[in-house]
Amino acid sequence: MKIAIENVDMTYPSGKQALEGVSLNLENPSMIGLLGPNGAGKSTLMKLLVAGLLPTKGQILLDGIPLQKKEKELKEKLGYLPQSFGLYDELTVYQFLDYIAALKGLKNPGAEIGQVIRATNLEEKKKARIRTLSGGQRQRVGIAQALLGDPGFLIFDEPTVGLDPEERIHFRNLFSRMAQDKLVLLSTHIIEDVQSVCNQLVIINQGRVLFVGTPAELIWNAQGHVGVFEEAGGMEEEGLHITSRVNTARGVSCRAVADQLPGFITPVEPTLEDAYLYTILREELR
Ligand code: ADP
Repeated sequence: MKIAIENVDMTYPSGKQALEGVSLNLENPSMIGLLGPNGAGKSTLMKLLVAGLLPTKGQILLDGIPLQKKEKELKEKLGYLPQSFGLYDELTVYQFLDYIAALKGLKNPGAEIGQVIRATNLEEKKKARIRTLSGGQRQRVGIAQALLGDPGFLIFDEPTVGLDPEERIHFRNLFSRMAQDKLVLLSTHIIEDVQSVCNQLVIINQGRVLFVGTPAELIWNAQGHVGVFEEAGGMEEEGLHITSRVNTARGVSCRAVADQLPGFITPVEPTLEDAYLYTILREELR
């Protein structure tokens, strides 16, 4: 499955332009992390990909054919976990999945529901009413419904929001298992979510794509733009973005990103988070 996003603009009826000139090629198998600050346009892009919105300019092609003409095929191949997910509180986990299986027209719902319940570790909760579940368990139900029908293309919009660290690790492992033979697009503003599992990153900010490539390429781009220094009085900090400030016995130890590192800063190897911040802030820091 190949998805080509060609020069897409999206302006909402309110006049707000959420995406501008977005071009991307997505192909399976792949685990793609879509990163960007709040309001960057991530959800808008995902809604366009599930044909929930139509671009105001440009087009999206699924295996070479415009998405609108392939909507039925897309729905069959697609699993989507939107950001706000209305679960049916009074249903049990099993009843809810059975309902979604019917909506998806699955031929053998019993076996498929069993499979997704196992994949998301919900065996113990399958008879529990959804209203009694924790945030992490509810997210797992959301992921389970997306997996029903074994779609080849999965879109998860901020799936780890509100989860505790242990649950986030569980999800990351689940995602990387799924990505072995699928196209998984995962939107987040939490860098650790994509660090170990995504082979491809897309960074967007203010509706524009700033970077497409591997995590290693992102880090490489930020080489020479990240450094550390001991804070002292009267230091010129313009053109710098301080990413951490730690009190030590010797004073305050700072880490910063900059387009041009001033002489008082010692360059260090960027982390993925540094590299992400540098990409987002580069224009402002110039
Ligand atoms: P993200 O998912 O990265 O947080 P969104 O795609 O939700 O970003 O939003 C991108 C921009 O579009 C934001 O400025 C947001 O306020 C605006 N926006 C999102 N949905 C709508 C809408 N239905 N009508 C008008 N503006 C919207």
